[in-house]
This record gives sequence, structure tokens and C-alpha cells, in this order.
Amino acid sequence: MLATHNGHCFCGAIRFEIIPPVKWSVTCHCESCRRQCAAPMTTYIGLEEGRWRWIEGNPKTFESSPGVTREFCGDCGSPLTFSSEKMTGLKHFHVNALDDPEAFPPERHVSIEEKLCWLHLNDGLPAQEGPEAAPKAELRSS
Ligand SMILES: [Zn+2]
Ligand SMILES: [Zn+2]
Repeated sequence: MLATHNGHCFCGAIRFEIIPPVKWSVTCHCESCRRQCAAPMTTYIGLEEGRWRWIEGNPKTFESSPGVTREFCGDCGSPLTFSSEKMTGLKHFHVNALDDPEAFPPERHVSIEEKLCWLHLNDGLPAQEGPEAAPKAELRSS
């Protein structure tokens, strides 16, 4: 059963739809995500081509580092996605832009080496250094 999920930016100018399954749901602690979201961490889901589409509006894009593109609403500034050339064919949507942000709980923490020192995790999820595509052998307890 393929239930679609909808999401939108804060002001509603940009609306999108995603179709599970998602490749992964992870909570990222990297500085780029922190800056894009102005938050200590963010949870996002990876979606293959064809599993997402814009329903309304066009996001603005920004190259946050070589090969990494981030999309956001040009009207309200809401962060929406990021894509990396290292993970071709995948677009990552921040779950907080979904109408139901609880639909895809994170399975692990990534880029844990960049976690802010005052942020204390107690969710029992595994954590790894580096981005989501890193080998699972590097998993360690959070
Ligand atoms: Zn907006
Ligand atoms: Zn990140």
C-alpha cells in the first residue's frame, strides 16, 4: 500500500508530495544542516527519483558546498531539501516540512562528530560519524 505524504513550507507557497518507501530517515548533526535549519540538528528522509514531486511553487536552490544543493522557499525561507552528488538519484526532505513529521522516525544519527556539546541524546539510536551513506560498520552507540 503506497500512501502518499504531503508537506509544505511555512508560508505554503511551496507544496510537495512524497511516496514511501524512503531510503532512510536519519538525524543529521552536520554544520551545514544546522546552518540551513538554524537548529541544533535536523531529521530528513532520503527519496529516490519518482518518489517525490513539487505540487505547487518552485524552491530556490543554494550550493552549500561543492556538489551539495539545498532547496528552500524563497518567500518564507523554510528549508526543504538537500541533495548530494555523492548520493546520486536521492533527494532528502527535512521531515519537519511534512504535514506528519512523526511518520518517519529516525533510525540513527549521522555526522555525530559535529554534534553540539550541550545537546544530550537519550533516544537509544545508533550514531555514526560522517554522512548517511557511510558504511554501517561505523555505527556506534549514542
Ligand atoms: Zn514559504
Ligand atoms: Zn547534515
